[in-house]
Amino acid sequence: MKVTEKKFVADFKKKIAEMYTADYTDVSVDQLYQALAAVVHSYFVGNQQETRKKYKKEDRKQVYYFSIEFLPGRFLDLNILNLGLSAVVKEGLAKLGLSYQKIKEAEPEPGLGNGGLGRLGSDFLDSAAAQGIALQGNGIRYKYGLFDQRFVNGYQVEIPDDWLRSGDQWGSRRENRACLVRFGGNVWLQPDSLGRLRANYENTQDVMAVPYDYGITGYQNGVANRMRLWSAELPNQKDKIYTIAQKEEINQITEILYPDDSNWEGQLLRLKQEYFFVSAGVQSIIRAYRHLHQSLSQLPEKIAIHINDTHPAVAVPELMRVLMDDEFLSWDHAWNITQKVMSYTNHTLMSEALETWPEEMFAQTLPRIYQIIQEIDRRFRAEMIPLYGNELTATVAPLGDGNVRMAYLAVIGSHSVNGVAKVHTELLEDSVLGPLYKMFPERFNNKTNGINLKRWLQVANPELAGLLDETIGTGWQHHPDELQKFMVAVNDQKVLSRMGAIRHEKKKQLAAFIESDLGIKVDTHAIFDVQIKRLHAYKRQLLHAMYIIDEYLQLKSGKKLAVPRVHIFGAKAAPSYHYAKQIIKLLNTLAETINNDPDIGDQLKVVFLPNYDVSLAEKIIPAADVSEQISLAGKEASGTSNMKLMANGAVTLATMDGANIEIADAVRQDNIVTFGLSVAEAENYQNYRASDIYASDPVIHRILDTLVDGTFANCQTEGQAIFDSLVKYNDQYLLLADYQSYKAGQARIDSLYLDRNSWYNIAAINVSQSGKFSSDYTIERYAEEIWQVKIEQSAQ
Ligand SMILES: *Cc1c(COP(=O)(O)O)cnc(C)c1O
Repeated sequence: MKVTEKKFVADFKKKIAEMYTADYTDVSVDQLYQALAAVVHSYFVGNQQETRKKYKKEDRKQVYYFSIEFLPGRFLDLNILNLGLSAVVKEGLAKLGLSYQKIKEAEPEPGLGNGGLGRLGSDFLDSAAAQGIALQGNGIRYKYGLFDQRFVNGYQVEIPDDWLRSGDQWGSRRENRACLVRFGGNVWLQPDSLGRLRANYENTQDVMAVPYDYGITGYQNGVANRMRLWSAELPNQKDKIYTIAQKEEINQITEILYPDDSNWEGQLLRLKQEYFFVSAGVQSIIRAYRHLHQSLSQLPEKIAIHINDTHPAVAVPELMRVLMDDEFLSWDHAWNITQKVMSYTNHTLMSEALETWPEEMFAQTLPRIYQIIQEIDRRFRAEMIPLYGNELTATVAPLGDGNVRMAYLAVIGSHSVNGVAKVHTELLEDSVLGPLYKMFPERFNNKTNGINLKRWLQVANPELAGLLDETIGTGWQHHPDELQKFMVAVNDQKVLSRMGAIRHEKKKQLAAFIESDLGIKVDTHAIFDVQIKRLHAYKRQLLHAMYIIDEYLQLKSGKKLAVPRVHIFGAKAAPSYHYAKQIIKLLNTLAETINNDPDIGDQLKVVFLPNYDVSLAEKIIPAADVSEQISLAGKEASGTSNMKLMANGAVTLATMDGANIEIADAVRQDNIVTFGLSVAEAENYQNYRASDIYASDPVIHRILDTLVDGTFANCQTEGQAIFDSLVKYNDQYLLLADYQSYKAGQARIDSLYLDRNSWYNIAAINVSQSGKFSSDYTIERYAEEIWQVKIEQSAQ
């Protein structure tokens, strides 16, 4: 269907009349957004139906990507880009005297993820659609997403994120596809009249899982896949009466996203969330498969289920349950199928984040699943103990220390296990999953994360995308490797100066946003030094803060900075993560003091933008000069904001951690600033005494003293706690060990920036080398090497 500007304007006006019985001049911006979303949605429902029909007709193998988090960002902008309607919509609205920019800001962002994990899931859905891969997301439709963050007196305050308050413009409720999910009660096996073992249940809590489908559009290829999110509701069983309390209990299951991506809390509810969306997903997959196929033996040729981090690992015993209890397969047959269907991505090296459940809680909540895990555990031990001995086997068996251990269960039940950056996969094999690597080396592989350049370049930075189109043609949009061609920009004054002008324009746009949001005026000629990510001790926002204090002390002593700086932060802390919140308070206090100190002026500014999310990231990233990726080596599995920032021309200031190592390989040493301990050095950093460094290094000494000597007022408690974490409790993440090397890296940034031409050269090289981090390629590697599914860029 060709949508002309004329058609669009007519559709839009008609939609407003239908929805509000009013004219477009007589509705609010929110209403304009809702109508615009409805019109854009109507332009791809046909694609959704066609795509489904086509997959069915070809009997394509389908991938189901299970993830407890998705962080899609706003839908409107990306859908308009993917449908090729950017000009039509913008100009059509302009003809009506309406601003697209203003209307799109009215879209509430679905915050159904905490950070990198959920964002990766969404980038993968987008890229799979772009590559014509039959992949569907399976997750939870949380009523409240990740909290909105405000600052009150510099402290983080969490506000509920009521993203559905004005309806759901992109999701379709598919009540006829609902499934029943069972919790608790008693279960026993009993032969039926044919002699087959049947699972019988009593006193269970039954929950109805209702799917909402969200269309995921491919990039100008007519494909629309789907993300299916499940909502928990009362079952409509006529013979049963529910109390209000029971209803509340059921609705609670999909009420909120847990605001912590590394530790579980609200334990029982979280476990229920996991089983809820997994069971509904598995049941609906088998039901769909059953419509088209006779024998379950072909299941692995038609279906792949991917377990994104451990939260959906219960998919392994759930598929076993369905295959045995509902489909009457033998254990061996079911196990053989399950292993071929399942694959698993590990996302963390932090051992405290490896998910486990107390066996007792698990057995009470999911009695049948627990029985199946016991049997998986028994068979695993029986097979491995003769080969590897009791001790090694016991360290990685699914049950141990009174816990169900989800990562081990996922590895044992899958045919593929991958890490998310080269160094991360190596560390998994060497340490966290070492014994399992020894047992199943052929299962392990690496898939370095990627990012969707459609969102992070074309949507976020249309100006730079336009320059790329003009300089190297539009081929890079479909084949991101062609960004390599932008190496022609190196030493080409004309292209470089246009790039410089665009970069400056994006900095001006961000400066205007900062002023309107926080009332802080920043100098757009200063270095915009950006650190945006979840607030976590290992990510070391505090190291960055130490450098800011260092600069402040220099300025107070009458020295000048080589180049003025604007330090820009965006970060949410988990509400229960006390230390992270103290660092937020410190950063806000630094900002308050420094920004209002008349001695400092434009030399130094600190900007902490509240409520970091995808929409805010899209504003900050194109304006960044420096990308801070400064985690302690060995702690960040991959990182993806490092990739987003390089693709927009920021220079990375990085430790050799996660995907930073691969970025350094891609751009080569001259075009990245690296510093600090290596993974091996950090691991073997024995006899570390932070207090010795504090005592012997006068610069560090002076910086840390400001935390406790009243330099920064109203931050005494936090300053003392942070000081103690470094000096008294020996600085777990080795900030003091890395500080001087980090400071030298910052000095190198200054000297590079002073030669503006070579700076833009470096920026251009970063842009041109970012193609290999496109999630279009990452998802192709998953498709070919893990799922064995077809890749077909165009579905038409
Ligand atoms: C990309 C992204 C992240 C992940 O950032 P890292 O620096 O890789 O941890 C987190 N949150 C949002 C909103 C993002 O867009």
